[in-house]
Amino acid sequence: MFELLKRDTQTKARLGRLTTAHGVVDTPVFMPVGTQASVKALDPRELREMGTQIILGNTYHLNIRPGLDIIRAAGGLHRFMNWELPILTDSGGFQVFSLAKIRTIKPHGVEFRSHLDGSPLFLGPKESMEIQRVLGSDIAMVFDECPPHDAPPKEQRQAVERTIRWARECREQPRAPGQLVFGIVQGGSNPALREECAKELVAMEFDGYAIGGVSVGEPEPDMLKAIEFTEPFLPAAKARYAMGLGTPAQMIELIARGVDMFDCVLPTRIARTGTAVTHAGAFALKGSAHKTDFGPIEEGCECYACRTFTRAYLRHLLRANEILGLRMVSVHNSHLYLKVMTEVRAAIAAGTFAEFYREFIANYTPSQKILAHRRREVER
Ligand SMILES: [Zn+2]
Repeated sequence: MFELLKRDTQTKARLGRLTTAHGVVDTPVFMPVGTQASVKALDPRELREMGTQIILGNTYHLNIRPGLDIIRAAGGLHRFMNWELPILTDSGGFQVFSLAKIRTIKPHGVEFRSHLDGSPLFLGPKESMEIQRVLGSDIAMVFDECPPHDAPPKEQRQAVERTIRWARECREQPRAPGQLVFGIVQGGSNPALREECAKELVAMEFDGYAIGGVSVGEPEPDMLKAIEFTEPFLPAAKARYAMGLGTPAQMIELIARGVDMFDCVLPTRIARTGTAVTHAGAFALKGSAHKTDFGPIEEGCECYACRTFTRAYLRHLLRANEILGLRMVSVHNSHLYLKVMTEVRAAIAAGTFAEFYREFIANYTPSQKILAHRRREVER
């Protein structure tokens, strides 16, 4: 299922190939997020044209709306949204803990109320795997407990214990034909818990492993440590997936630390507020600096938005709240994320990743928030 094609000699970067029921995925890979069976503002044709290999769907959201009966009647998620390439579905664990209004944790799952209409629902390992089986995703994720990054140690330990127990239950559930199942390592920023959780899950022999409990509001240095604490305990012969991350520079940092798969809402989310991402960092396209800037969002970018429109025009569209503006920034940002992964794979294949990594990080200006976190880390 996963073939490790090449390892970088100076970093932990890996070139791989993941074979799924709906096709082959070259890694490292970025997976655009289609939470509600749609990558926001982009259609399947655009996604394919910009080189998307696999997208995400979400168990929690799709189960609440439109509901499983409708997706079952449509013949599964691929047919419902007319997407022929691979789909990975998140288990809903993250949303139950981040989104649900009221919840009670029980031995076999979580009782909660829908964030939409407050109706009572129950989601546990069994239910989550059944939903993912009906969705027919190529990769299903186990149902885990993802506590906030600042949860007290006792809560982190309980979450790891539940995550391990629920992973074992998920392992035993029926799957869609050819469906792969990935385990999720929790443990916050505690190295012992990360190690324990990773070892227990690896013993269950999942098809791949995700590092969860990252991108939950923790400062960047803590996120990097959580990855470093976990990676050594994951088998080299399986794919590794860092959930919900990050900026292009963070993805490169994590690739250098041995991660193969990424998903993030950032490229489309910030597009909707008029922020464009480039190889040099993010910038606000709405700013007055671009009033008469008739260049593309990024010089040399091959995306449809950059080939067709100027910054000045896109700025005007964004300020006038024209849908085309946010659509075109979504096209550029998503294309950029995918393009960076293409460059990474080429660099690993050519044996020049270490050089690519140094140059990329040197050229990329992080956000003020990330810079502040780094300063605090140095002072610590
Ligand atoms: Zn572009």
